[in-house]
Amino acid sequence: MFDKILIANRGEIALRVVRAAREMGILSVAVHSTADADAMHVRMADEAICIGPPPSASSYLSFPAIISACEITGAQAIHPGYGFLSENASFVQIVEDHGLTFIGPTAEHIRMMGDKITAKDTMKALGVPCVPGSDGGVPTLADARRIAAEIGYPVIIKATAGGGGRGMKVARTAAEIDTAFQTARTEAKAAFGNDEVYIEKYLTTPRHIEIQVFGDGKGNAVHLGERDCSLQRRHQKVLEEAPGPVITPELRARIGKVCADAVARIGYIGAGTIEFLFENDEFYFIEMNTRLQVEHPVTEAIFGVDLVREQIRVAAGLPMSFTQDDLTINGHAIEVRINAEKLPEFAPRPGKITQYHAPGGLGVRMDSALYDGYRIPPYYDSLIAKLIVHGRDRPEALARLSRALGELIVDGVETTVPLFHALLQEEAIQTGDYNIHWLEHWLAANAHKL
Ligand code: ADP
Repeated sequence: MFDKILIANRGEIALRVVRAAREMGILSVAVHSTADADAMHVRMADEAICIGPPPSASSYLSFPAIISACEITGAQAIHPGYGFLSENASFVQIVEDHGLTFIGPTAEHIRMMGDKITAKDTMKALGVPCVPGSDGGVPTLADARRIAAEIGYPVIIKATAGGGGRGMKVARTAAEIDTAFQTARTEAKAAFGNDEVYIEKYLTTPRHIEIQVFGDGKGNAVHLGERDCSLQRRHQKVLEEAPGPVITPELRARIGKVCADAVARIGYIGAGTIEFLFENDEFYFIEMNTRLQVEHPVTEAIFGVDLVREQIRVAAGLPMSFTQDDLTINGHAIEVRINAEKLPEFAPRPGKITQYHAPGGLGVRMDSALYDGYRIPPYYDSLIAKLIVHGRDRPEALARLSRALGELIVDGVETTVPLFHALLQEEAIQTGDYNIHWLEHWLAANAHKL
């Protein structure tokens, strides 16, 4: 096992990894930009090292700064958290070239899944059901018109190198295909430096269901059920729950086995998430994320496992600490993502926290790097806290979420908390009857309530 690991991230996820390491008796090294000198992850880690100025490109994304920090501190492995370098195959290669361990999948698997066309082809070959669509990239407008007509409208044009909900355009009819194709390509080029796009059938009322998988890199893999992340704004998750309100034990066992077998066959190591759209009892693969997800705590809650601990174990060459048979679901968990944003525009609002009180009590987990007097810097993501509740069943989890949100105090900046108070009043949320478009429609009609 490692003696010391470095965490190439910030905020709540850096803190999350520090906590897992400490429980395992492993020393942790925090890295930070000059804007984060007073951050909680810096205070909580065993050591901290400044790696550059505020812009992430010069600090949290700087290969030389992070590798040097490992060499200076003697850290043997790097946990990337999510975002930043977590799915950067070149970084993984360089980490290994320096004799260090990347706590995550191999560069090859990151590359395979980072290119969405390769990912889809690989998954299809492994028996995973996919959204009907183009075979590979769609180079010209003429191809786009022909393929869209074959698939049948509506269609969605997506960037091969896409991520974060960007570079996607829907064409509802043939009249919209020209603009959708050109805009998607332009956006893909600007956001990812790669204008390749592909086309998929646009599903009109799906839920977003994702399967947590975990492999040991030696051909063994398990699944940890699903998370329902259908509550989205601009293709970004807002609230996640596990188990999924509409997933039966039979559906779970079937898709879970397909996913675990697929990652076992490619020799996948560590945590991964296979994302699906789910409509009329059918699963359609959209992408695989080769990292720990923001919403991993809901899975941890219902299975009683520590996924970060497990990531560190397999990276050190140890076996997984559970088998498929050990993994049984207990109750229901819900996570809400609390951002420092002004509603209803969701405009980022960095600033100084004048008062902070975290909720507590049975079944409440607050993953946050906030503290009284903390100044949220303007340079990074606006996620400031994840509130996760766990109950014996879904109604209990909902009641607990309402109670916990009521206890939370974050003063000094505006947050998205009022959105969750309002959502909890909605019948669709209480019954679990929502799909990936529900929140956008609700926001269009209810902005005045926020
Ligand atoms: P990203 O990597 O940018 O997050 P994804 O492929 O994971 O992109 O898609 C993100 C979200 O976009 C999905 O959760 C869903 O809401 C929507 N989406 C993607 N593909 C389709 C599709 N074929 N039909 C309908 N919605 C889709």
